[in-house]
Amino acid sequence: MLYLSTRGHPERRHFCEILLEGLAPDGGLYLPEHYPPLDAAALARLRGVWQRDGYAALAFEILSLYIDDIPADDLRALCERTYTAEVFGTREIVPLKPLEPGLMLEALSNGPTLAFKDMAMQLLGNLFEYELARRGETLNILGATSGDTGSAAEYAMRGKKGVRVFMLSPHGRMSPFQQAQMYSLMDENIHNIAIRGVFDDCQDIVKAVSNDLDFKRRYKIGTVNSINWARLLAQVVYYFAGYFQATADDSQRVSFTVPSGNFGNVCAGHVARQMGLPIDRLVVATNENDVLDEFFRTGVYRVRGSADTHETSSPSMDISKASNFERFVFDLIGRDAARCKALFGEALAREGRFDLSQDPAFALARSRYGFESGKSTHANRLATIRDVYARDGVIIDPHTADGVKVAREHGKPGVPMIVLETALPIKFADTIVEALGREPERPARFVGIEDLPKRVQVLDADAEAVKALIAAAV
Ligand SMILES: *Cc1c(COP(=O)(O)O)cnc(C)c1O
Repeated sequence: MLYLSTRGHPERRHFCEILLEGLAPDGGLYLPEHYPPLDAAALARLRGVWQRDGYAALAFEILSLYIDDIPADDLRALCERTYTAEVFGTREIVPLKPLEPGLMLEALSNGPTLAFKDMAMQLLGNLFEYELARRGETLNILGATSGDTGSAAEYAMRGKKGVRVFMLSPHGRMSPFQQAQMYSLMDENIHNIAIRGVFDDCQDIVKAVSNDLDFKRRYKIGTVNSINWARLLAQVVYYFAGYFQATADDSQRVSFTVPSGNFGNVCAGHVARQMGLPIDRLVVATNENDVLDEFFRTGVYRVRGSADTHETSSPSMDISKASNFERFVFDLIGRDAARCKALFGEALAREGRFDLSQDPAFALARSRYGFESGKSTHANRLATIRDVYARDGVIIDPHTADGVKVAREHGKPGVPMIVLETALPIKFADTIVEALGREPERPARFVGIEDLPKRVQVLDADAEAVKALIAAAV
């Protein structure tokens, strides 16, 4: 399998060549040249693999359709090392939890940091270690986080050979639980840097350091952000695992509702559907930051400025533009790379928007690709958390609540709806207390983490100071 850029760069590349990279050289995103089609026999075989051998074996089968430059035995071993009951809490790895009839949650948040990002990031950590060892190289990952991504990256890379992580976070602005999760890591290769400033300051520093090409090359600076194809590919697997659990055979269709921000999670669902997984609809749920809902309703994609990006109680979905969305639009417009470049490279840069409402392709988003969308607000989240707790005795996190709220508006008789559970409620205890008047339960391994010693360095919002710290550490 070879990978191409959504903006038409002529080079084609193998999986491991794009594994350690971010954007393609022309600023586009990498996608496989085609989605390997699964016929009825292949799908039945995958169901058998899932039933007999479990999640890691299923992951191997799906990944090997897209990865031709890692020997099969090595890839199988990487999957088996990643998806274990010890790390993810259950033998199923992603068990389904029924809510009301026809509606269920797929539990993706029982990994080390209690958010679905662990599903991909844990694999990425093992893939990075493997590929760096094979090349005899090292990598210094520089990132900025306001919570979930940074901790998922640190827990995935801790103790890994050849990799160091330098993670910037806004000093004193994450929840005590999130701070404790990250700052209590004592691994030598994990560097927590608290910046006196806000998240945007952290992100600006990452950009400034990455734009210093000499520094970037000399210190082998890399990233693990959500546009990484390997992360997206790892997420394709749990759509299959959810489908196999919800159905008795492959004649049935299911729908998924996905709490969305950067469109990474639901884009993996799009890939699964294109491969032939019988998904009826993919429902995109947003919060007040409704860039994506607006597009699927109107055909207009309009990115927001930071002044128009709301701080909400589902903060991991507070985005101004959806960094993976270009992948879907590329498919939607018939993989016309020149057009994709004009839309994302030129129209967005010039006007901050593009409009497909008059384009026949826009209708395909629903009719051919099965996309629908909806939006949820703070009041909706609170009401949904209360209602699910009252009816089912289950506490859901605010992001998952956005999903459940929207899923209920898109139910269809005879088609099970699976909502992806993107985090556990303990990560967002304030909102749970606001909704229910009580704290959510805390998994035993997190009891008392706020009292653990912390390993973090506090710096001013100054790219030079961060560079000096990296230079001293490597
Ligand atoms: C990252 C995240 C999301 C959004 O996922 P995307 O892939 O960016 O669409 C939703 N919920 C939680 C809890 C997250 O951490």
